[in-house]
Amino acid sequence: MKTKSILKVMYALLLIMAGHSNIGFAQRSIIHCGNLIDGKTNDAQPQMTVVVEGNKIVLVEKGFTKPGASDKLIDLSKKTVMPGLIDMHVHLESETSKDQAIQRFTFNEADVAFRSTVFARKTLLAGFTTVRDLGGSGVNNALRNAINQGLVVGPRIFSAGKSIATTGGHADPTNGYRKDLMGDPGPREGVINSPEDARQAVRQRYKDGSDLIKITATGGVLSIAKDGSGPQFTDEELKAIIETAKDYGMHTAAHAHGTEGMKRAVLAGITTIEHGTKMTEEVMDLMKEKGTFYVPTITAGKFVGEKAKEPGYYHPLVVPKALEIGPQIQTTFGKAYKRGVKIAFGTDAGVFPHGENGKEFTYMVEAGMPPIESIKSATVVNAGILGMSDKIGTIEPGKLADIVATDDNPLKNIKTMETVSFVMKDGVVYK
Ligand SMILES: [Zn+2]
Repeated sequence: MKTKSILKVMYALLLIMAGHSNIGFAQRSIIHCGNLIDGKTNDAQPQMTVVVEGNKIVLVEKGFTKPGASDKLIDLSKKTVMPGLIDMHVHLESETSKDQAIQRFTFNEADVAFRSTVFARKTLLAGFTTVRDLGGSGVNNALRNAINQGLVVGPRIFSAGKSIATTGGHADPTNGYRKDLMGDPGPREGVINSPEDARQAVRQRYKDGSDLIKITATGGVLSIAKDGSGPQFTDEELKAIIETAKDYGMHTAAHAHGTEGMKRAVLAGITTIEHGTKMTEEVMDLMKEKGTFYVPTITAGKFVGEKAKEPGYYHPLVVPKALEIGPQIQTTFGKAYKRGVKIAFGTDAGVFPHGENGKEFTYMVEAGMPPIESIKSATVVNAGILGMSDKIGTIEPGKLADIVATDDNPLKNIKTMETVSFVMKDGVVYK
């Protein structure tokens, strides 16, 4: 009788220990990959296995490894597997629509926030496991936090919070308003007019919890203002912004269409140039010399160029700018790539519908970039800019399990990047 009860206790203990071991050692996922583009090599390796434990990749090996009894098999043996994609230029707070200009007056912050969760989900399901949000109202920072806490489904976000502009500049939040509504937004709202203001605006963003700084170095297409490409910051202001950002460990991104504003930003040490529409060979060479990255956003250029032909879609001040600037970006990208400028994948999603980010790959390849280079720009290159090279951007042991797959081999059919059919972020399968 006594022996029996001791055995019972031992059995109970074993069960408890087994239970605990399940907590300590998460179930392994064995992923069979028809092809694997790991982000390091330049080809797709056939029949590979990737092993995921918890949120990490623990093993990558040749052939299809047989799963153990407690392992979960994820069969992607007919698909091409690659690292989670990274888009360096999105706006998750908004999406293009005919009444977008009016929404600034009709939407509360809560409306913006709820909508942003939908855009975030679409982005993740399109295969983009990490994004850089290049400007919103500050809801983008809250969205990032909610995603990190597991409350909302979306990509890992690096947020710029509210962009920094000068008075009347591309990201001045009250452009085009009636005089009494215009007010005089200052550094807190991201509008600066001196190096002192510039430092304050950067420090405010740091205080707000932004991860990086976005500036609008030249005029822009969608702001209610006449000029789409002139310079909008002085050299002293740019220097103050970039120096202060560095002090707080933040990198910098500059929206720029015109040559002069772009050149000033590159010389001041900006990390990335967004759009880069009128980039001359002189600026390309400067960017090579300074190691500046070019984020083309061809998809947004094409979208606004087309939409501007639709009567009444954009404000009358926007239409001529969209028609002029939009269609130029793809050609500029082709020239910059061929000249050796470093390319970082980015789309400006939000200017066009969220979830269509994958179109950018097709446009890049059309302009002369080999498919593998376009995929590397969206993975390993972007991970480096974000200071995340040790965590994301490639499929290798020790990295976070951000893994996506397409039905076709994108090295043969780049359009397959527009319909990503499997998405894992941080070890969790979302699609
Ligand atoms: Zn943008």
